[in-house]
Amino acid sequence: MDIQKIRSDFPILQQKIHGHPLVYLDNSATTQKPQQVIDSIIRFYTSVNANVHRSGHFLSERASVSFESTRQKIQSFIHAKQTEEIIFTSGTTESINLVAHSFKNQFIKSDDEIIISEMEHHSNIVPWQQICKQKNARLKIIPFDEHGELIIDAFKELITEKTKLIALTFVSNALGTINPVKELIHIAHEKNIPVLIDGAQAVQHLPVDVQDLDCDFFVFSGHKMYAGTGVGVLYAKQKWLEKMRPYTYGGGMVKSVSFENTTFANHPFKFEAGTSNISGILSLGKAIDYLNNIGINKIQQHEQRLVTYGLDQLSTLDGLTIYAKPKKRCGIISFNLEDIHHYDAMMILDKLGVAVRSGKHCAEPVMNHYNIKGTIRVSFAMYNTTEEIDRLLVGLQKVQEMHR
Ligand code: PLP
Repeated sequence: MDIQKIRSDFPILQQKIHGHPLVYLDNSATTQKPQQVIDSIIRFYTSVNANVHRSGHFLSERASVSFESTRQKIQSFIHAKQTEEIIFTSGTTESINLVAHSFKNQFIKSDDEIIISEMEHHSNIVPWQQICKQKNARLKIIPFDEHGELIIDAFKELITEKTKLIALTFVSNALGTINPVKELIHIAHEKNIPVLIDGAQAVQHLPVDVQDLDCDFFVFSGHKMYAGTGVGVLYAKQKWLEKMRPYTYGGGMVKSVSFENTTFANHPFKFEAGTSNISGILSLGKAIDYLNNIGINKIQQHEQRLVTYGLDQLSTLDGLTIYAKPKKRCGIISFNLEDIHHYDAMMILDKLGVAVRSGKHCAEPVMNHYNIKGTIRVSFAMYNTTEEIDRLLVGLQKVQEMHR
């Protein structure tokens, strides 16, 4: 992997922040975009812009072909069986809400149970919690242990004949843990329970094969994988899409409408009411081309080197606590410096051009687990370097000096 060549594709990385070259280590929140992705958005508005699947004129045809070819790219990127199993949404959050809405209306009744884990992002907690409240159902939580790994025996014990769905994150955005989702899905399927996997922190870092995982639902966001904001994906097995009723109603998702009745289009269109974020979706296609050109395996190896180096370097600092030491970790490290507020550390690092995130990372239950208010989080992408980790270290030393 030629990192310098990759870096030169990302115009934002050439910037100085507060007089220092930017070190961007907040990739779990959102990744930066390569010029190829930015160009695809400009190209769409300068030479293609038209609505999709509506008019038959040249531009509309062209936009529709690009739109559907992006669906195919996503299908092959995550190894779905059929393109019809790929639904465009506005992001992971909407994808989860779509499934939650459908389960609430069709598959969950009073006294039923839904299982999630203690390390979920709020997006994979609140929708399930709210539907449980509305249906008088129960939300059950798989705990994690001192290594930041899910306790599989506890998971097995939580499953009952009332369990209707299990929703789990592939990679924890707060701890970096890569969960053994294939094994967990297998355990759930032995009891015929469907599983939704939140892949928001996985697809850009490791190879994903939804058929091999055998998950029922898989969700992710474009902006965390080098595409524009406001676009995401819901993958669902065909058998679910056939059963599920639409989530939103309007144009583009119907076969025929009268004042008395409406017949719906087949999936995926049944779930894509209204005009989609077309330029965002095309940018996702470009981002996938970009990822494929480099190769997800190479990206994974590079990021593994970064996280190993990062963990080694951080452990040289006195008074630094790293939360979670899982056996399998993505390029995410959460930590705190003794007697220094995570927000103060983030602000000082920012003045040195190093962008990290501080706070609860939309995973408040993880913070409650450790009885802390928040952490400093660094998260890597394919364009990060060990030299940038050295800059982080120098920054953290400065933070400590300033607090002595
Ligand atoms: N799930 C996980 C694991 C995440 O890390 C995030 C975002 O940080 C989300 C869900 C929500 O993603 P979005 O805000 O793109 O919908």
